[in-house]
Amino acid sequence: MLSETLAADLRALLGDSAEVRDDEAARKSATKDFSWVSPIIHNTIPRTLPDVVVTVRTVEAVRTLARFAHERRIPLTARGKGTSNYGQIIPLARGIMVDFHELSGDLVLDDDGVVHGLPGTTWRDLFAFLEDTGREPAMFPTTLNSTLAGSVAGGAGRPGSIEHGFNHEGFVQMLTLVPVTADAEPVTLRYPDTTPHVHAFGTTGLFVRVGLQTVPARERTAVFASVPDLDAGAAMALQILQLRPPPQILAVTEPELAALFPEDPGFEPGRTNLRAVVDVANAPVVQEIVERGGGTVTGARPDAVRYLATLINNHTTVRAKAKRPELYHVLVRGNAILGKRALIAEAFEDATVQLEGIRGRGARASRPGSSRRTATTPWCTRAWTGCAPRAWRWTARTAGSCTPTCRRGGRLRTATTPWACSTPANCRGSEDRPSTDRIGTNGPCPVPPPAPYARRVSIAVPIDDLAKTAARYGFAYLVTIADDGRPHIVAVSPQVRDGAVVVGDLGRKTRANVAARPAATLVWPPTSAADHSLIVDGETALSDDVLTVTPTRAVLHRPAPAPTAGGGCGSDCVELPTASGRG
Ligand SMILES: Cc1cc2nc3c(=O)[nH]c(=O)nc-3n(C[C@H](O)[C@H](O)[C@H](O)COP(=O)(O)OP(=O)(O)OC[C@H]3O[C@@H](n4cnc5c(N)ncnc54)[C@H](O)[C@@H]3O)c2cc1C
Repeated sequence: MLSETLAADLRALLGDSAEVRDDEAARKSATKDFSWVSPIIHNTIPRTLPDVVVTVRTVEAVRTLARFAHERRIPLTARGKGTSNYGQIIPLARGIMVDFHELSGDLVLDDDGVVHGLPGTTWRDLFAFLEDTGREPAMFPTTLNSTLAGSVAGGAGRPGSIEHGFNHEGFVQMLTLVPVTADAEPVTLRYPDTTPHVHAFGTTGLFVRVGLQTVPARERTAVFASVPDLDAGAAMALQILQLRPPPQILAVTEPELAALFPEDPGFEPGRTNLRAVVDVANAPVVQEIVERGGGTVTGARPDAVRYLATLINNHTTVRAKAKRPELYHVLVRGNAILGKRALIAEAFEDATVQLEGIRGRGARASRPGSSRRTATTPWCTRAWTGCAPRAWRWTARTAGSCTPTCRRGGRLRTATTPWACSTPANCRGSEDRPSTDRIGTNGPCPVPPPAPYARRVSIAVPIDDLAKTAARYGFAYLVTIADDGRPHIVAVSPQVRDGAVVVGDLGRKTRANVAARPAATLVWPPTSAADHSLIVDGETALSDDVLTVTPTRAVLHRPAPAPTAGGGCGSDCVELPTASGRG
């Protein structure tokens, strides 16, 4: 097997400087992350496993590995603690997963207040190191157990961003990275040259040392307040944002969402909650602002500062989903809907909302401590909802790049229904994601009438488009035929390479079936009730436990509603340029 040979070669090459594992448990556990918080990512990114997981213990091991991968053209994927939310650690082309969590420590604070450490150092260890120095990182993590390199390569903004901007704006002062080249010679970069490598998901090289800006430590407290409603809370929060120094965390949460948080005396049941982490000296000013706006301060507790970091960003989603799994969140960055709660209700009837301060006007644009300032948008509005995402459909309709056509009375016409291109398969070029600036501007999206599934629609997929089409699905079912003529069906994570579909990790029965009867079918199930299945028929070839399916036919298929009385095109329009025929 490929992974066994690879693992043996790597063990011989790396010795004690790394642990090499190719067992299924290690390969599966290395791809665990938090991308499940997004239903879109969860359904579109395939859960491919790496061939081998290498836990590196020395910088030299990283270099050796990079040279080896370069020579053999094997893809590398870096991993810290796997807390990222966008599927960044999924090795789409398999290869080697480089786990950095054991390459940690060696912390040094330099004269410019930059703290340097190995990539797998956790934030918890960083705080312990800084404890007696009188300094703190300019930005705080929300996940204490995540790694410095993972936060730099995978993260963006966090507590402290209101004052100091985003990761790429001066927080990452130094990076040493190992490029995947023939000599893998490490390169050390200083800010602003670090910028292109921040939030680049490890695609520009492997970080082996990270330097983060610290600032003098400050004494803070967590203020909780009960306020009349979201818009009133937003008005207060805008004033709190003007404090100097600015708050480290600022959030306003509606009661339905706050009810999903752990019980805390700072929350008054049934009331909208405002929370701010501010300098102790600013707490009385916050109280004054809250009371002037008709609210009540329900607590000011220095020991709750850390707790408030676990009630923002995706912590809120994780907590909400724990109690109501059907919820997902939609994030709107900017001020467009600030103080306009009614507009959110137009787009998402049953949504519950949290406002989060991300960055204040006048926040620093360059290195913390410098004087250059810029005006930026201060807010993120997050709506948690379980309802149909109407705004996404508006995006599809209004994105401008989507002019789906449909066959009506034997002629091609441009579709006019807003849901016509609600799946990427129907709308090439449109982005199937929430539109931040459209919410509420076009009025509610009409809901398509329920239609009986009376006929079937299939769209032929040209082989050239197969990789792109398959990429938006998760797993597939592989159907082979057993000796007794019954279909044998297993779930697989196929890859499309050079026009063929490649499947690994085969079971004994599947191998026996294709050896005797090479014809097979792959079915990628629809990602929603409105979506198509992708079906590929093909001839198989088995080698080294890898099955290559050469497609003879590829088709997108779903049941279609019966034609409407007026002959309208309904929801099964087909963008013909992507189709080579109808099945
Ligand atoms: C509940 C919750 C709340 C969160 N809140 C925030 C938040 O407020 N702000 C924020 O920015 N993020 C947030 N995140 C996302 C995530 O926690 C952070 O980005 C985190 O710091 C990632 O660290 P990690 O060690 O888990 O990295 P991983 O998830 O393992 O990796 C993240 C990325 O870094 C790359 N990488 C890892 N190590 C290296 C290396 N040595 N060299 C090159 N690339 C590398 C990986 O390939 C991947 O692309 C949150 C996540 C969760 C689950």
